[in-house]
Formats: sequence, structure tokens, C-alpha cells
Amino acid sequence: MKAEIIAVGSELLLGQITNTNAAFISARLAEVGIDVYYHTVVGDNPNRLEDAITIAQKRADLIIFSGGLGPTKDDLTKETIAKMLGTELESDHAALLAIEAYFKRTGRTMTENNKKQALVLAGSTVLTNNFGMAPGMALEKNGKCYILLPGPPHEMEPMFETEAIPYLLGTSGKREVIVSRVLKFYGIGEAELEYRVQSILEKQTNPTVAPLASPDSVILRLTAKADTNEAAQKLIAPVELEIRSLVGQFIYGTDDDTLSSKAAELLVGNKLTISAAESLTAGLFMAELADVPGISSSLKGGVVVYDEDAKMRQLDIPGTLLDEYGVVSSECATALARNVKRKFGSDIGVGLTGAAGPDPHDGKPVGTVWIGIAFQDEEVKTFKLDLSGSRNANRKRAARFALYYLIK
Ligand code: ATP
Ligand code: MG
Repeated sequence: MKAEIIAVGSELLLGQITNTNAAFISARLAEVGIDVYYHTVVGDNPNRLEDAITIAQKRADLIIFSGGLGPTKDDLTKETIAKMLGTELESDHAALLAIEAYFKRTGRTMTENNKKQALVLAGSTVLTNNFGMAPGMALEKNGKCYILLPGPPHEMEPMFETEAIPYLLGTSGKREVIVSRVLKFYGIGEAELEYRVQSILEKQTNPTVAPLASPDSVILRLTAKADTNEAAQKLIAPVELEIRSLVGQFIYGTDDDTLSSKAAELLVGNKLTISAAESLTAGLFMAELADVPGISSSLKGGVVVYDEDAKMRQLDIPGTLLDEYGVVSSECATALARNVKRKFGSDIGVGLTGAAGPDPHDGKPVGTVWIGIAFQDEEVKTFKLDLSGSRNANRKRAARFALYYLIK
């Protein structure tokens, strides 16, 4: 079954409200295995609504409308559909009683146009509105299913849940579930990832495998359809294994994991404490970690040592080291990591230094970053990055990369 959602309302076109109804309806339909092919937004104009419906009838079996069921003149959804389908509008007794009761209860006077709200498409199943006056409707005609829902989300959402979904499941007999599994990557670009898993991307249909890039990480979303949750997971498992065998070294987590939640898991789980000396990131690394609830037992503290003087005074970085190698150097990152670890008495010390931009620093090009990680009694490990973003993107990415190297 192919579905299309038509949201009616000029405010949507003017950008005054966001089409959250389409998002909500799509998400719920996906969960019950109905594919949404199109979202349409149309103003409160009967001719353009008619055009939109004509197009939808050609490409969808299920057309869901939101908005335009109210009593005012610009609310025209059901009138337009009635005209197009050659269906009468008739007063629904239960809906009229509910409206009259509503007016009694609120002590307001009912006007003639309020009665309009009790008009429903002849032959339709009325969807009860427990949070407003306009009833919803479901109607099948010429092989198409039409569902009409009110615009206000606090009315539409519960109606969709308790009235429309059972209606759809009852009529379509669809009981498929859709299950998604997200694999999260760091340290690899979208193009490179796509290239490496190309064979899987091409041959997969159930689950489908889709790469998505966000500014600082790449994900693969595996989506399977099956009769049950377990069956869908069984379809996903072997494909996930195959992906892991190809690019597993770049996977840092799954589903709701973040770099900081994984780092916190590692620290708290192993009862390790951490401290950081941050130059270019000026606290971003610590802030990322502090975002995770339950990190307190592992988070010792940190220092922002932005200029050379601060590095020397706060962390005893020798001036001779800075003179010889510069601030943006493996040597400086090493000294920052080692000294902050000693000062704070932590198990792990992290040092971050670099040229965030817009100007080169100390002769080092913009985007050059050095990260040092001092781990218990081991040698300090250093990592170099050549980033290419804006100043703030570089600072953020440097903090994230430090988390990534920590969990690797
Ligand atoms: P009412 O009886 O309140 O007039 P209605 O069914 O006629 O309901 P509209 O007049 O189209 O619905 O919209 C009423 C309000 O519902 C809008 O002002 C807006 O706040 C909200 N709304 C409408 N459509 C959407 C949508 N697609 N997404 C989110 N909110 C919406
Ligand atoms: Mg309205």
C-alpha cells in the first residue's frame, strides 16, 4: 500500500507553522509497515486542493489529510473531497450530540456554523475526536482509502493512534513491523564508507542499507520488514556482521550511542578517572563528557591553557619545549597529557592543541591538531588531524576525535 499525506493549511506554506503532523503520521505508518511515498502541503484553497487530490489519486492508495476540518470559511477539506468523490455530506448524530455537549459544558453559545462540524462524508467511518469538536473520517471509494484528520496536533495525534491505526490495520490486514538498526562510524568519510560497503548497498533490499552523513559522523541505517520484531532482527543480524567484517574498525557504537556515551561507558565501567588540558578546544572535550549522566565518578577535572604562559604556569610545560617544537606539536600534546594527568592524579590525561583558524598558528596550517592521550603508565600516544572546517567546526571535531581515540 502506497500512502500520501496531504497537509492542508496556508500557515504551513507561509512558514508560520511546521508540518509536524506529516512527520508524526509518517513515523507511525512506518511502524505498522505502511510505506509513505509522498508528503504534500497545500493552502486553504479549494482549486489547489482539488489539484493535489487528483495527483495523489494517481500515485497513492491511501490518502491522509490533516487540517481544514474546522467550522470557519477557510476550512474546506471535507467539502472539496465530497465534491470530487460525488459523495454527500450528512450530519452525524453522535458528532452533533458531542458538539452540543461541548457547548453546554463550556457555557458557550453554539452558532450555526458549529453544526457544520458534525457533517461527515456519507458512508464514512467516523473517527471520534476526544480533544476537540471536529470528527475525523475514513472512507473507501473506488479502490482508494481517504482518511481525514483535524489540524491541531493535540487532537490529531490521539485520534490517529486510537482510531485511524486500528482502522488501517483492520482494512489493510498489514501487520508487518519495521525495525531499524543504526551503525555509527567515526574517522571515515561518507564517500569512503559507501565505497567500501558498495557490494552490500547494492544487493540489499530487506534490510535496506542506507548511509547518512551528519556534520561529524556517518551512519548506516539497516531497516528490515517482517511479521514480527524477532524475524526483522534475524534479517538484520547477518548483514550487520558482513558490514562489521568490512569496516568494523570505524564503528564506535549503535542506535542511541554517542562518542561521549561510549567514552563514559569505558571510563565508568573500568573505574578509570580522566582529566584534560585543553588549548584549542577550551573545554569542549570536558563538556562533551560531562553531558553524560553518571560520569561524575570518572571525571576528575581539567584546565583550559590557552596561551603559552598558561601552559607554562599551570602545567609546567617547559618554555624550551614550546620554543623548539611550537605549541601545535606532538611534543606539546604529549606534555599537556602527561602533566595534566599528574596534576590531577587521574588514570588518563588528554591534551589538545591545534590551529583552529582562521589564521595559521605558529607556522602550522589551519586545521592542524595534535591530541595526546596519557594512559596509566604507558607511553603517551599522539594523534594528528588535518581538519578542513571552519574555526568552530574544527574545535568541535577535535574534541570528538579525542573521544574517538579514547574509545579505540
Ligand atoms: P480547527 O477546528 O482548529 O480549525 P482544523 O482541522 O480546521 O482545526 P486547521 O484550521 O487547518 O485545522 O489548523 C488548526 C491549527 O492546527 C493550526 O493553526 C496549527 O496550529 C495546527 N496545525 C494544522 N495543520 C498542522 C500540521 N500539518 N502540522 C502541525 N500543526 C498543524
Ligand atoms: Mg481550521
